[in-house]
Amino acid sequence: MKLEKQIREVGKTFKKEIAELEKLIREYDRIAIFRHIMPDFDALGTQLGLYHFIKDNFPNKEVKVFGDNHVTFTPRLFQEMDKENDGWFSKPFLSIIVDVGAKARIADPRYEKGEKIVVIDHHPHVEDIATFDITDTSKAAASELLVSVILNFKHNYVLSKEAAKNFYIALVGDSGRFQYSSTSAHTFAVASHLIASGINLNEIYGAMYLKNIDDLKVTAYILNNYKVSEKGVAYYVLSDQIQKDLKITTERGKENVNLFSNIQGINIWCSITEDTDPKEPCWRISIRSRDYVINGVAAEFGGGGHKQASGAKITTLDELPKFIAALDALVK
Ligand code: AMP
Repeated sequence: MKLEKQIREVGKTFKKEIAELEKLIREYDRIAIFRHIMPDFDALGTQLGLYHFIKDNFPNKEVKVFGDNHVTFTPRLFQEMDKENDGWFSKPFLSIIVDVGAKARIADPRYEKGEKIVVIDHHPHVEDIATFDITDTSKAAASELLVSVILNFKHNYVLSKEAAKNFYIALVGDSGRFQYSSTSAHTFAVASHLIASGINLNEIYGAMYLKNIDDLKVTAYILNNYKVSEKGVAYYVLSDQIQKDLKITTERGKENVNLFSNIQGINIWCSITEDTDPKEPCWRISIRSRDYVINGVAAEFGGGGHKQASGAKITTLDELPKFIAALDALVK
Protein backbone atom coordinates (compact mmCIF):
# COMPACT_ATOMS: atom_id res chain seq x y z
CA MET A 1 0.00 0.00 0.00
CA LYS A 2 1.37 3.42 -0.91
CA LEU A 3 2.15 5.65 2.06
CA GLU A 4 0.08 8.80 2.48
CA LYS A 5 1.73 12.21 2.75
CA GLN A 6 0.97 12.40 6.51
CA ILE A 7 2.65 9.06 7.17
CA ARG A 8 5.68 9.98 5.06
CA GLU A 9 5.91 13.17 7.13
CA VAL A 10 6.43 11.07 10.29
CA GLY A 11 9.11 9.17 8.37
CA LYS A 12 10.93 12.43 7.67
CA THR A 13 10.58 13.88 11.17
CA PHE A 14 11.94 10.76 12.89
CA LYS A 15 14.17 9.44 10.08
CA LYS A 16 17.16 8.69 12.29
CA GLU A 17 15.18 7.24 15.21
CA ILE A 18 13.02 5.02 12.96
CA ALA A 19 16.10 3.57 11.25
CA GLU A 20 17.70 2.97 14.65
CA LEU A 21 14.57 1.31 16.08
CA GLU A 22 14.28 -1.02 13.07
CA LYS A 23 17.94 -1.92 13.41
CA LEU A 24 17.55 -2.69 17.14
CA ILE A 25 14.44 -4.81 16.60
CA ARG A 26 16.28 -6.84 13.95
CA GLU A 27 19.41 -7.10 16.08
CA TYR A 28 18.03 -8.16 19.48
CA ASP A 29 16.77 -11.71 20.02
CA ARG A 30 15.19 -10.78 23.35
CA ILE A 31 12.78 -7.85 23.46
CA ALA A 32 10.60 -6.63 26.37
CA ILE A 33 7.68 -4.25 25.83
CA PHE A 34 6.44 -2.00 28.64
CA ARG A 35 3.67 0.63 29.07
CA HIS A 36 1.93 2.59 31.83
CA ILE A 37 0.28 1.45 35.05
CA MET A 38 -3.52 1.21 35.16
CA PRO A 39 -3.48 0.49 31.43
CA ASP A 40 -6.17 1.65 29.02
CA PHE A 41 -7.01 0.60 25.46
CA ASP A 42 -4.09 2.55 24.02
CA ALA A 43 -1.46 1.27 26.47
CA LEU A 44 -2.43 -2.39 26.06
CA GLY A 45 -3.34 -2.25 22.37
CA THR A 46 -0.06 -0.58 21.43
CA GLN A 47 1.97 -2.94 23.60
CA LEU A 48 0.30 -6.08 22.25
CA GLY A 49 0.13 -4.78 18.68
CA LEU A 50 3.90 -4.37 18.77
CA TYR A 51 4.29 -7.80 20.38
CA HIS A 52 2.38 -9.45 17.51
CA PHE A 53 4.14 -7.34 14.88
CA ILE A 54 7.54 -8.54 16.08
CA LYS A 55 6.49 -12.17 16.57
CA ASP A 56 4.79 -12.31 13.14
CA ASN A 57 7.88 -11.03 11.40
CA PHE A 58 10.57 -12.61 13.58
CA PRO A 59 9.03 -15.82 14.99
CA ASN A 60 12.29 -16.91 16.61
CA LYS A 61 12.72 -13.86 18.79
CA GLU A 62 11.76 -14.00 22.44
CA VAL A 63 9.29 -11.16 22.98
CA LYS A 64 7.75 -10.39 26.39
CA VAL A 65 5.02 -8.03 27.53
CA PHE A 66 5.17 -6.71 31.08
CA GLY A 67 2.86 -4.83 33.47
CA ASP A 68 -0.39 -5.36 35.33
CA ASN A 69 -3.30 -7.08 33.60
CA HIS A 70 -6.44 -5.04 33.05
CA VAL A 71 -9.22 -5.63 35.56
CA THR A 72 -11.91 -6.15 32.93
CA PHE A 73 -10.32 -6.21 29.46
CA THR A 74 -8.04 -9.16 30.32
CA PRO A 75 -8.61 -11.82 29.04
CA ARG A 76 -11.81 -10.72 27.25
CA LEU A 77 -9.98 -8.35 24.92
CA PHE A 78 -6.25 -8.60 25.68
CA GLN A 79 -3.99 -11.58 26.36
CA GLU A 80 -2.37 -12.06 29.77
CA MET A 81 0.90 -10.29 30.51
CA ASP A 82 4.12 -12.29 30.97
CA LYS A 83 5.40 -13.11 34.44
CA GLU A 84 9.17 -13.49 34.60
CA ASN A 85 11.45 -13.41 37.59
CA ASP A 86 14.52 -11.18 37.79
CA GLY A 87 16.68 -13.86 36.12
CA TRP A 88 15.06 -13.08 32.74
CA PHE A 89 16.25 -9.49 32.97
CA SER A 90 19.85 -10.38 33.73
CA LYS A 91 20.58 -11.43 30.12
CA PRO A 92 20.81 -8.75 27.39
CA PHE A 93 17.53 -7.48 25.98
CA LEU A 94 15.99 -4.46 24.24
CA SER A 95 13.41 -2.42 26.22
CA ILE A 96 10.63 -0.74 24.27
CA ILE A 97 8.31 1.48 26.30
CA VAL A 98 5.06 2.65 24.71
CA ASP A 99 2.45 5.24 25.71
CA VAL A 100 4.29 6.62 28.75
CA GLY A 101 7.16 9.00 29.27
CA ALA A 102 7.32 9.32 33.07
CA LYS A 103 9.43 6.82 35.02
CA ALA A 104 7.02 6.53 37.94
CA ARG A 105 4.19 5.55 35.61
CA ILE A 106 5.95 2.67 33.85
CA ALA A 107 4.24 -0.52 34.98
CA ASP A 108 7.43 -2.54 35.62
CA PRO A 109 10.64 -0.83 36.78
CA ARG A 110 12.79 -3.56 35.21
CA TYR A 111 12.62 -1.71 31.87
CA GLU A 112 15.78 -0.07 33.24
CA LYS A 113 17.72 -3.30 32.82
CA GLY A 114 17.45 -3.17 29.01
CA GLU A 115 20.78 -2.65 27.19
CA LYS A 116 19.01 -0.13 24.98
CA ILE A 117 15.76 1.63 25.90
CA VAL A 118 13.40 3.19 23.37
CA VAL A 119 10.30 5.25 24.25
CA ILE A 120 7.45 5.69 21.74
CA ASP A 121 4.89 8.07 23.18
CA HIS A 122 2.32 10.76 22.51
CA HIS A 123 2.28 12.36 25.99
CA PRO A 124 4.19 15.58 26.66
CA HIS A 125 7.86 14.76 27.31
CA VAL A 126 8.50 14.85 31.08
CA GLU A 127 11.96 13.34 31.57
CA ASP A 128 14.74 11.46 29.78
CA ILE A 129 14.34 7.73 30.19
CA ALA A 130 15.55 6.21 26.97
CA THR A 131 18.60 5.76 24.75
CA PHE A 132 16.39 7.73 22.33
CA ASP A 133 12.70 8.45 22.08
CA ILE A 134 10.08 8.99 19.42
CA THR A 135 7.57 11.37 21.01
CA ASP A 136 4.87 13.21 19.10
CA THR A 137 2.09 14.88 21.11
CA SER A 138 0.13 15.68 17.97
CA LYS A 139 -0.90 12.05 17.62
CA ALA A 140 -4.22 10.91 19.13
CA ALA A 141 -2.83 7.57 20.28
CA ALA A 142 0.52 5.95 20.90
CA SER A 143 -0.54 3.26 18.42
CA GLU A 144 -1.14 5.92 15.77
CA LEU A 145 2.48 6.99 16.10
CA LEU A 146 3.89 3.47 16.33
CA VAL A 147 2.01 2.16 13.29
CA SER A 148 3.23 5.14 11.31
CA VAL A 149 6.79 4.39 12.46
CA ILE A 150 6.43 0.72 11.42
CA LEU A 151 5.04 1.72 8.01
CA ASN A 152 8.15 3.84 7.53
CA PHE A 153 10.56 0.96 8.23
CA LYS A 154 12.93 0.26 5.35
CA HIS A 155 12.16 -3.44 4.93
CA ASN A 156 8.73 -4.83 4.08
CA TYR A 157 6.88 -6.49 6.95
CA VAL A 158 3.62 -8.30 7.49
CA LEU A 159 0.93 -6.40 9.40
CA SER A 160 -1.21 -9.33 10.53
CA LYS A 161 -4.86 -9.14 11.55
CA GLU A 162 -3.92 -9.80 15.19
CA ALA A 163 -1.38 -6.97 15.30
CA ALA A 164 -3.76 -4.64 13.45
CA LYS A 165 -6.65 -5.50 15.78
CA ASN A 166 -4.66 -4.50 18.86
CA PHE A 167 -3.38 -1.31 17.23
CA TYR A 168 -6.91 -0.43 16.08
CA ILE A 169 -8.39 -0.92 19.57
CA ALA A 170 -5.69 1.43 20.87
CA LEU A 171 -6.42 4.01 18.19
CA VAL A 172 -10.18 3.97 18.70
CA GLY A 173 -9.75 4.10 22.50
CA ASP A 174 -7.47 7.10 22.71
CA SER A 175 -9.09 9.11 19.92
CA GLY A 176 -12.47 8.73 21.66
CA ARG A 177 -13.75 6.84 18.60
CA PHE A 178 -12.21 9.44 16.27
CA GLN A 179 -14.01 12.29 18.03
CA TYR A 180 -11.27 14.04 20.05
CA SER A 181 -9.68 17.10 18.51
CA SER A 182 -6.39 15.19 18.23
CA THR A 183 -7.99 13.16 15.40
CA SER A 184 -6.37 14.14 12.10
CA ALA A 185 -5.82 13.06 8.51
CA HIS A 186 -2.85 11.08 9.86
CA THR A 187 -5.16 9.21 12.29
CA PHE A 188 -7.42 8.15 9.43
CA ALA A 189 -4.47 7.24 7.21
CA VAL A 190 -3.22 4.88 9.93
CA ALA A 191 -6.76 3.52 10.50
CA SER A 192 -7.02 2.81 6.78
CA HIS A 193 -3.84 0.68 6.82
CA LEU A 194 -5.11 -1.23 9.84
CA ILE A 195 -8.55 -1.86 8.33
CA ALA A 196 -6.89 -3.01 5.08
CA SER A 197 -5.41 -5.94 7.03
CA GLY A 198 -8.91 -7.43 7.16
CA ILE A 199 -9.91 -6.81 10.81
CA ASN A 200 -13.57 -7.14 11.75
CA LEU A 201 -14.73 -3.76 13.05
CA ASN A 202 -18.09 -5.00 14.32
CA GLU A 203 -16.40 -7.64 16.43
CA ILE A 204 -13.88 -5.10 17.78
CA TYR A 205 -16.47 -2.47 18.76
CA GLY A 206 -18.63 -5.17 20.37
CA ALA A 207 -15.73 -6.37 22.52
CA MET A 208 -14.73 -2.82 23.46
CA TYR A 209 -18.06 -1.24 24.25
CA LEU A 210 -20.77 -3.85 24.83
CA LYS A 211 -22.33 -3.27 28.27
CA ASN A 212 -24.57 -5.40 30.44
CA ILE A 213 -27.68 -4.62 32.48
CA ASP A 214 -25.63 -4.06 35.68
CA ASP A 215 -23.68 -1.33 33.87
CA LEU A 216 -26.98 0.51 33.41
CA LYS A 217 -27.36 0.65 37.21
CA VAL A 218 -23.99 2.39 37.43
CA THR A 219 -25.05 4.86 34.76
CA ALA A 220 -28.33 5.45 36.60
CA TYR A 221 -26.48 6.14 39.86
CA ILE A 222 -24.15 8.61 38.17
CA LEU A 223 -26.97 10.42 36.36
CA ASN A 224 -28.86 10.74 39.66
CA ASN A 225 -25.88 12.04 41.63
CA TYR A 226 -23.58 14.13 39.42
CA LYS A 227 -23.01 17.83 40.08
CA VAL A 228 -22.30 20.74 37.77
CA SER A 229 -20.35 23.80 38.90
CA GLU A 230 -21.18 27.39 38.03
CA LYS A 231 -18.85 27.30 35.00
CA GLY A 232 -20.06 23.99 33.66
CA VAL A 233 -17.64 21.55 35.26
CA ALA A 234 -19.59 18.30 35.69
CA TYR A 235 -18.35 15.68 38.13
CA TYR A 236 -19.45 12.56 39.95
CA VAL A 237 -17.99 10.95 43.04
CA LEU A 238 -17.91 7.19 43.61
CA SER A 239 -16.82 6.30 47.13
CA ASP A 240 -15.44 2.86 47.89
CA GLN A 241 -18.76 1.93 49.52
CA ILE A 242 -20.74 2.96 46.45
CA GLN A 243 -18.35 1.01 44.20
CA LYS A 244 -18.98 -2.03 46.39
CA ASP A 245 -22.76 -1.48 46.29
CA LEU A 246 -22.63 -1.15 42.49
CA LYS A 247 -20.18 -4.10 42.27
CA ILE A 248 -17.66 -2.16 40.19
CA THR A 249 -13.93 -1.49 40.30
CA THR A 250 -12.35 1.97 40.39
CA GLU A 251 -11.44 1.52 36.69
CA ARG A 252 -15.02 0.69 35.79
CA GLY A 253 -16.22 3.76 37.67
CA LYS A 254 -14.08 6.09 35.61
CA GLU A 255 -15.18 4.53 32.34
CA ASN A 256 -18.46 6.45 32.64
CA VAL A 257 -16.81 9.85 32.47
CA ASN A 258 -17.78 10.42 28.84
CA LEU A 259 -21.47 10.27 29.71
CA PHE A 260 -21.07 14.05 29.89
CA SER A 261 -19.10 14.57 26.71
CA ASN A 262 -21.74 15.95 24.39
CA ILE A 263 -23.87 18.06 26.68
CA GLN A 264 -24.36 21.74 25.97
CA GLY A 265 -23.35 23.80 29.00
CA ILE A 266 -20.91 21.16 30.25
CA ASN A 267 -17.38 22.29 29.37
CA ILE A 268 -15.24 19.96 31.46
CA TRP A 269 -16.24 16.65 33.01
CA CYS A 270 -14.63 14.47 35.64
CA SER A 271 -15.02 11.20 37.47
CA ILE A 272 -13.75 11.01 41.05
CA THR A 273 -13.33 7.45 42.30
CA GLU A 274 -12.01 6.36 45.66
CA ASP A 275 -9.06 3.96 45.53
CA THR A 276 -8.44 2.20 48.85
CA ASP A 277 -5.20 0.52 47.72
CA PRO A 278 -3.18 0.59 50.97
CA LYS A 279 -0.03 1.56 49.03
CA GLU A 280 -1.62 4.81 47.97
CA PRO A 281 -5.17 5.45 49.20
CA CYS A 282 -6.58 8.39 47.23
CA TRP A 283 -9.40 9.65 45.05
CA ARG A 284 -8.49 9.14 41.38
CA ILE A 285 -9.72 11.74 38.97
CA SER A 286 -10.25 11.45 35.23
CA ILE A 287 -10.73 14.80 33.52
CA ARG A 288 -12.00 15.39 29.98
CA SER A 289 -12.87 18.55 28.06
CA ARG A 290 -14.03 19.73 24.67
CA ASP A 291 -12.32 23.10 24.31
CA TYR A 292 -10.24 23.78 27.39
CA VAL A 293 -6.67 22.65 28.05
CA ILE A 294 -6.83 20.75 31.33
CA ASN A 295 -3.43 19.07 31.73
CA GLY A 296 -2.02 22.07 33.64
CA VAL A 297 -4.63 21.64 36.39
CA ALA A 298 -4.04 17.86 36.29
CA ALA A 299 -0.33 18.48 36.91
CA GLU A 300 -1.17 20.78 39.86
CA PHE A 301 -3.16 17.93 41.38
CA GLY A 302 -0.63 15.10 41.18
CA GLY A 303 -1.26 14.02 37.60
CA GLY A 304 -0.83 14.93 33.98
CA GLY A 305 -1.85 13.78 30.52
CA HIS A 306 -3.17 15.31 27.34
CA LYS A 307 -4.74 18.69 26.66
CA GLN A 308 -8.25 17.27 26.67
CA ALA A 309 -7.85 13.98 28.57
CA SER A 310 -5.90 13.90 31.81
CA GLY A 311 -5.69 12.11 35.12
CA ALA A 312 -5.10 13.52 38.63
CA LYS A 313 -5.61 12.57 42.26
CA ILE A 314 -6.50 14.08 45.62
CA THR A 315 -5.93 12.61 49.06
CA THR A 316 -9.23 13.57 50.65
CA LEU A 317 -12.53 14.99 49.42
CA ASP A 318 -11.70 18.20 51.32
CA GLU A 319 -9.50 19.10 48.33
CA LEU A 320 -12.36 18.69 45.87
CA PRO A 321 -13.72 22.29 46.03
CA LYS A 322 -10.21 23.63 45.31
CA PHE A 323 -9.84 21.24 42.38
CA ILE A 324 -13.22 22.16 40.86
CA ALA A 325 -12.42 25.88 41.39
CA ALA A 326 -9.15 25.40 39.44
CA LEU A 327 -11.10 23.89 36.53
CA ASP A 328 -13.76 26.62 36.79
CA ALA A 329 -10.99 29.20 36.45
CA LEU A 330 -10.12 27.76 33.00
CA VAL A 331 -13.59 28.42 31.62
CA LYS A 332 -14.06 31.77 29.90
P1 AMP B 1 -7.21 8.59 32.72
O1 AMP B 1 -8.20 9.60 33.11
O2 AMP B 1 -6.61 7.88 33.86
O3 AMP B 1 -7.76 7.70 31.65
O4 AMP B 1 -6.00 9.38 32.05
C1 AMP B 1 -6.17 10.18 30.91
C2 AMP B 1 -4.85 10.39 30.22
O5 AMP B 1 -3.97 11.07 31.10
C3 AMP B 1 -4.16 9.08 29.83
O6 AMP B 1 -3.53 9.26 28.58
C4 AMP B 1 -3.14 8.89 30.93
O7 AMP B 1 -2.03 8.19 30.45
C5 AMP B 1 -2.80 10.32 31.31
N1 AMP B 1 -2.47 10.40 32.74
C6 AMP B 1 -3.23 10.02 33.76
N2 AMP B 1 -2.60 10.22 34.96
C7 AMP B 1 -1.39 10.76 34.67
C8 AMP B 1 -0.25 11.17 35.43
N3 AMP B 1 -0.22 11.06 36.76
N4 AMP B 1 0.81 11.65 34.76
C9 AMP B 1 0.82 11.73 33.41
N5 AMP B 1 -0.21 11.36 32.64
C10 AMP B 1 -1.30 10.87 33.24
